[in-house]
This record gives sequence, C-alpha cells and structure tokens, in this order.
Amino acid sequence: MSAMTIGKIGVVGAGTMGNGIAQAFAVAGLDVVMMDVGEAQVQRGLATIGASLDRLIKKDRMSAAQKDAAMARIATTTTVTAMGDRDLVIEAATENLALKLRIFAELDAAMKPDAILASNTSSISITKLAAGTKRPSQVIGMHFFNPVPMMALVELISGLQTSADTYARIEAIAKAVGKTPVKVRNNPGFVANRMLCPMINEAIFALSEGLATAAEIDEAMKLGCNHPIGPLALCDLIGLDVELAVMQVLFEGFKDPKYRPAPLLVEMVEAGYLGRKTGKGFFDYS
Ligand code: NAD
Repeated sequence: MSAMTIGKIGVVGAGTMGNGIAQAFAVAGLDVVMMDVGEAQVQRGLATIGASLDRLIKKDRMSAAQKDAAMARIATTTTVTAMGDRDLVIEAATENLALKLRIFAELDAAMKPDAILASNTSSISITKLAAGTKRPSQVIGMHFFNPVPMMALVELISGLQTSADTYARIEAIAKAVGKTPVKVRNNPGFVANRMLCPMINEAIFALSEGLATAAEIDEAMKLGCNHPIGPLALCDLIGLDVELAVMQVLFEGFKDPKYRPAPLLVEMVEAGYLGRKTGKGFFDYS
C-alpha cells in the first residue's frame, strides 16, 4: 500500500454536492480547496456550508469555534492549477460527459503523479473517465448522497483499471470522514439508484394506470414498507428531471425494457413539472 496519506483534498464544483463534500471533509479536519468556474459560484458554495454549520450549532451538534475551524480549512479557487498539491481531488461538476472528460484531462495534467482523481458522477462510467487520463489506476468513483453531511453512504466504484491500492486508500479516507463505504463494480446506476429509481418509476406507472392516487401510493409504501417518505414525494424532492435522467441511463445501459421511463414521467418533465424546485410535481408546493 502507498505510504502517502491523504491530507489535502480538492473539490471541483461548489454546487449541491460539491459544497456538501467540502463541508464533510473540512469538518473531519482535512484541508480542502473548493473550485468552481467563477467567484460567484464558490462564494455561494461557501455560504451554503456556513448556513449548514449554523443549523448544526442551533441543534447543539457543533460549537461556534468548531464551525470557525472548519470554515478556516476551506480555501476557494477558480483555477484547476490550484489542485497541484492535492492528494485527492473529488470532481462534483455538472453531470455532462464532455465536460467531465475535459475537467479530468485538465486535472490529470495539474495534479501530482501519485494523487487520486475521484468523480461523484451518478451515471457516467468510471472506466470511461479513467481511460481519458494518464493515471487510470488512480481513478475511482466516490458517489455521495444528498445532503452529503447527513447521509452515511458513499458508493465506491472501481473501474476496470482502478488499482486495489487506490481502492484501499479511498476506503480509508471515506471511513475517516465518517462515511460508510459500499464497494460497487462500475455499472449503470451503481447500486442505490439502480434499486431506487425503478421503484419510483413503478409508482408513476401505478399512478398513471389509476391504481390509486399519489397520496395513497405514498401512504402504501410508508405504512406497508416502512419507508420514511413515499416514492412520489421522494421523486418531487430529487427532481423529476433527475429521475428521468437516471431511468434513461439504466434503459440505455442495459437495453432492457424493464427500465423504460414511465410516459407520465416524460410528459411531466416536458411540462416543466420538476417537483419541489418548480413548485409542482406529483404534489403541489405553491
Ligand atoms: P450542481 O448543478 O448543484 O453543481 C454543479 C457545479 O459544477 C455548479 O456550481 C457548476 O458551476 C460547476 N461546474 C460546471 N463546470 C465546471 C468546471 N469546468 N469546473 C468547476 N466547476 C464546474 O450539481 P450537483 O447536484 O451538485 O451535481 C454534481 C455531480 O454530483 C453530478 O455529477 C451529479 O450526477 C452528482 N450527484 C448528484 C446528486 C444529487 O442528488 N444532486 C447525488 C449524487 C451525485
């Protein structure tokens, strides 16, 4: 196993997932550099972390001094070259293959030869991302869940080229920041989304077939399966566009009709009914 310990973290993308990842590592005591395309994006990411830590202080789960120490561990940048001294960079930029391949090439050129390059992608092949770099054995998927500071799981996805040493080091750092890693082979949807999104899709079929109302379908899964939230309310939370994108990845990846997106889901996305973020999905939030 490599002697290098992971102490310096880079996060590319300061959005929903990127700022959550930066927060988790900084709270765990690691040195973080968070990057995005512009000053406005990194400042918004920092403000989100500050507000999240303030909520923990209100709940007596953190002191003001701990917050200040965590914030002081996060530096920001708008250039990839600032990742040159990082031991691990986690890419959490917008979900787009061409964009991620470009970011990976830039990071690969800027980073130390022994550093590890991870992606938080929900759907892009880790094997494909690794193949675009000169360090394919040091590329891995670290798929966190939203909101990152609250959710225990991180799926660790090895591509065909990922070395056992890379996996071992990433598993250790994931545990060190308080996450529970689950080892997953590179494959469309990984594990959690492969199970979750078809269940939500089936709930949408049930709704469109008139089996029950949206509220009744959710009630059935809450009371009958002990789910904390019903599948349709969860879809509204995740975003109907995101649910549709995952179903398309599964459908295209496996070429199996069991993953076909429910026509009602497609139509609601066409209408702009994306869930909570637009005020309307399967339920009304206006
Ligand atoms: P987001 O839109 O909230 O944030 C993406 C950020 O990336 C934006 O701030 C954008 O400005 C930035 N970005 C774009 N191009 C960049 C570049 N060249 N360099 C640096 N930053 C750049 O998206 P998100 O929800 O945080 O998703 C990020 C990644 O995490 C995606 O790959 C997504 O599939 C994955 N993911 C999302 C969730 C979720 O629930 N939202 C869960 C797990 C994984």
